[in-house]
Amino acid sequence: MPQTALITGITGQDGSYLAELLLAEGYVVHGLVRRNSNIVRSRLDHLTSDERIYNESLFLHYGDLDDTTTIRRLIMKAKPDEVYHLAGQSHVGASFEIPETTCEFTAMGTLRLLEILRDCDPLPKFAHASSSEIFGTPTSQPQNEDTPMRPMTPYGVAKAFATQMVRVYREKFDLFACNLICYNHESPRRGESFVTRKITRSAARIRAGKQHDLMLGNLDSQRDWGYAPDYVRGFRAALSHKEPKDFVLATGILHRVSDWLEISFGHLGLDWREHVKFDPRFARSVDPVSLVGDATTAQRDLGWKPQIGFEEMVKQMVEADCQREDN
Ligand code: NAP
Repeated sequence: MPQTALITGITGQDGSYLAELLLAEGYVVHGLVRRNSNIVRSRLDHLTSDERIYNESLFLHYGDLDDTTTIRRLIMKAKPDEVYHLAGQSHVGASFEIPETTCEFTAMGTLRLLEILRDCDPLPKFAHASSSEIFGTPTSQPQNEDTPMRPMTPYGVAKAFATQMVRVYREKFDLFACNLICYNHESPRRGESFVTRKITRSAARIRAGKQHDLMLGNLDSQRDWGYAPDYVRGFRAALSHKEPKDFVLATGILHRVSDWLEISFGHLGLDWREHVKFDPRFARSVDPVSLVGDATTAQRDLGWKPQIGFEEMVKQMVEADCQREDN
């Protein structure tokens, strides 16, 4: 019998890569999708247009994270061996605009899912996409699985709640549940509202003559940026480990926003200084401490380590955006 997985957030950046990975390994994959007025699911098109895959080994089901009845029914019917919980409002900046929605889906949505799983027999394994934002202003650098949570954004608070609930259900109800504490990770499938993708897309559009200026906030902000397909390998590996535990997934290396500009524009023979303008609307105060992760546990227990480096990832994203602009 093939293994069966349920992915929440399958239409997102990570969900689409994870679906590919699991399908390639022979899994039957069920995905939870929101009902939108627009049916376009661009990150899944290559899978849903393949009749050997869609409705054969990949099945999509309507459901919102606050629709407990529908999710319960889906889980009882699909009987997944593994549940990968990736859905949620994923934008840190937007969480200040819509804190209630962020907490409703990211915090309470995770709790609702755990409550459903608790009633399953047998218990599916569970992976939760946690975030480095749970550390907020950390007391130590780099952070690992034992670093105390001190979230400073509504998104971080919601993830901290969900992360701790996963720990509670693991301890109290013997659920094989893991938090994957992910630092930023990017790819050509990254949403366009994130600064990384905004830069690579703008570089491609400027090269194509469709745009001249790029409005940005602080160029000195630093992040630990990795490559999304590397991170979904970590999710998969965590559920194959002999015991359930939490894992930090990170590169351990900081880069600046200006590094994205140098590589993206430089790759296309452009000088970013001629195009980038400061816009105070996008300026956030520079974090007192830039979060950087220590993935030693994942390296030791899962054999996990990033395979694609920063520069290669940025160039890959620029190339993909150029192709989109040329089509
Ligand atoms: P993403 O591209 O924004 O995808 C989010 C997914 O969640 C989409 O499929 C979205 O569906 C779905 N979703 C949102 N609200 C939902 C709801 N109420 N009900 C059902 N589905 C809902 O995010 P990502 O980059 O793949 O990230 C995956 C997870 O990892 C997220 O939980 C994120 O917070 C976490 N994470 C990401 C990073 C990162 O750097 N990428 C770092 C740390 C943690 P629609 O397509 O309908 O919008």
